[in-house]
Amino acid sequence: MNKIVVLGGAESGVGAAVLAKVKGFDVFLSDNGNIREDYAAMLRQWDIPFEEGGHSEAKILCADEVIKSPGIPSTAPLIQKLAGQGTHIISEIEFASRYDNAKKICITGSNGKTTTTSLIHYLLKEAGLNVGLGGNIGKSYALQVATEQHDYYVLEISSFQLDDTYEFRPDIAIITNITPDHLDRYDHKMENYVHAKFRITQNLRPEDCFIFDSDDAITVEHLSKIVLKAKMLPFSQEKEVPQGAFVKDDKMVVRVGESQTDILLKELALPGRHNLYNSMAAAIAAKVSGVKDEVIRESLSSFKGIEHRLEKVLNIGGVLYVNDSKATNVDAAWYALECQDKPVVWIVGGKDKGNDYEVLKSVVSKKVRAIVCLGVDNAKIHAAFEDIVGKENICDTRSAADAVKAAAGFAVKGDVVLLSPCCASFDLFQSYEDRGRQFKAAVRNL
Ligand code: ADP
Repeated sequence: MNKIVVLGGAESGVGAAVLAKVKGFDVFLSDNGNIREDYAAMLRQWDIPFEEGGHSEAKILCADEVIKSPGIPSTAPLIQKLAGQGTHIISEIEFASRYDNAKKICITGSNGKTTTTSLIHYLLKEAGLNVGLGGNIGKSYALQVATEQHDYYVLEISSFQLDDTYEFRPDIAIITNITPDHLDRYDHKMENYVHAKFRITQNLRPEDCFIFDSDDAITVEHLSKIVLKAKMLPFSQEKEVPQGAFVKDDKMVVRVGESQTDILLKELALPGRHNLYNSMAAAIAAKVSGVKDEVIRESLSSFKGIEHRLEKVLNIGGVLYVNDSKATNVDAAWYALECQDKPVVWIVGGKDKGNDYEVLKSVVSKKVRAIVCLGVDNAKIHAAFEDIVGKENICDTRSAADAVKAAAGFAVKGDVVLLSPCCASFDLFQSYEDRGRQFKAAVRNL
């Protein structure tokens, strides 16, 4: 086999193309839209032919194998055609893992992927290991396999990336949790989405580890239906587990084999119940990887957190502004609201991916003083919460600057203004990062 076509010319596709080139394949990259200038420059630098603004079908249909970027849905006409004629379609991580013998710690789930991935990377780095960070974060995995040499990889993997994996096998697989998200890409069927997440476990061997949230009903239910050969290492805040991590009094307890590590909850750097889950998953992964107890403890308390995830921006006149722009679904916003101990002025809204706001009603009635909608269509938010906060305490805005001004108007000393939108950002912003940055700029301009 020697003809590889890569579809999609962003981080994942360009990384895959470079690796294919390094491995001696005849590679061609095609993108339906525009390719960013830095990616185009990289393709030129590696002497990789490419096209943008459309697909040359004839050229693509004669590929021996196609590497599909995760952003392209399997329902796209070209993908259907390729699949129809039997062309093997794989993801970038499937391709890259063929050329990589490093130990792989791979994280998927509905929420907490980036936090958990970054935490584990930090813990392993602090332990002095030669570790790469990739997948959905930063540099693509394939590019690192092509141009760097690591003993370990910590990879954040979305369900879209898992969709086209077959032989890919992590040494440690983590599912942080499973709650409805992106159902539009899974025929609106939850079971399809759960299956996609569980693909991360499909090749695990008895010596590999599976780390999961045993408080998560969907994960546990699916586990009861399948057979996994890996070592099972659950984490729970509700009950003690024989192996894995749990909470006892004021400590997190991590047990792997005969060894036990205790970590004081008050020393954990990341706030909130959801981050306790993430810290537990990270601690188990680090312990399994042989990181010393002292390093696990110190690193979990010195970790600095990540932009756009419950990021404290400024305190203005006793009102704290928090940027949680990455909360793009109901579950993430629930955790963000739940961990607030001050009255909240909540900035919410955007492109709704089929949200059911029912589950938020109780936490909103306990924590939220006022609501600022930031989106093009806010009807569902009004319908769900207007009665709870009162008609006079909810308003509509269409820019970060107006949202922040409106929130400042509602807030009194001792409140938190929390941007935790529950929705994607594409109706008004380029991305959740763009939304978060505009929010922070608006706060600084108050
Ligand atoms: P992901 O990469 O899966 O989108 P992030 O770590 O970027 O996850 O966090 C996304 C959002 O979800 C943040 O707003 C954060 O507050 C929330 N969150 C983080 N960890 C969890 C968790 N374990 N459970 C639920 N929500 C979480």
